[in-house]
Amino acid sequence: MTQVIRNSAELREKVAGWKRSGMLVGVVPTMGALHEGHMSLVAQARAQSDRVIVTIFVNPMQFNNPDDLTKYPRNEAKDVALLDQAGVDVLFAPGVEEVYPTGFATTVSITGVSEPMEGAHRPGHFDGVATVVSKLFGMTQAGRAFFGEKDWQQLQVVRRLVDDLNIPVKIIGCPTIREEDGLAMSSRNVRLTAQERQIAPQMHHILQQAATQLRGGALASDALTSARAAFLAAGFHDVEYLELASVEGLRLLPAANEPARLLVAAWLGDVRLIDNIAV
Ligand code: AMP
Repeated sequence: MTQVIRNSAELREKVAGWKRSGMLVGVVPTMGALHEGHMSLVAQARAQSDRVIVTIFVNPMQFNNPDDLTKYPRNEAKDVALLDQAGVDVLFAPGVEEVYPTGFATTVSITGVSEPMEGAHRPGHFDGVATVVSKLFGMTQAGRAFFGEKDWQQLQVVRRLVDDLNIPVKIIGCPTIREEDGLAMSSRNVRLTAQERQIAPQMHHILQQAATQLRGGALASDALTSARAAFLAAGFHDVEYLELASVEGLRLLPAANEPARLLVAAWLGDVRLIDNIAV
């Protein structure tokens, strides 16, 4: 049975017991509304650790848009059933007061890799992510942490964080899990209307077409201009960013002349979708 823990002192005691027996602890941080993407991280964590903690915390500090926070899907009972089935040892689901008690005054802020794309369009987002992830590492004391490539920039930010602050946790990136039609799984997908859901997989297909052009030597300026037009023609009404960036350090590139990633954020109705693929 998955044990649900809401209090960090209780979690610490539990983990200390495991560590005394020489067990390697893995953590999968999430915001809940779990889907197969999350569960693939859980499967990796199970395969690579002796004990697995999944955290569910809808972190107010990383939401730059209050409406997005209010509308964020939550279904803890269903999540617990999934985690239980998957053999997760502990669900750590603290309340906001447990994570940010009165008097909380620390922000972890990372420059460079957190600045373009999501950082530019969601002010404060990565400060919120870096702060809560630092706290979750402190609270869980895990030796391994599993993050999805779906949030590619976040994965790079977390890698920077643990290197810079000597946090003793190994970060493991896991591939993006998609629906059969190519749409990257996301908790926010449930907010798409039936019509938007039909359009949404185009995001992946347009990225694939642009990646093919870039691999063939096209300039980013050309490939990205056609891809932007394709997004609008497909029915996305705003492309926030669409960039070719280096795999290491996420520097924007004029062409795919080194290992690169193509990353996008675009709006369908009132849902903001993100995706990325290797070039
Ligand atoms: P979230 O609950 O959206 O904050 O996501 C929690 C973790 O699951 C993050 O590391 C995400 O990158 C990862 N994740 C979300 N969606 C997917 C997906 N479709 N495939 C793989 N990992 C995912």
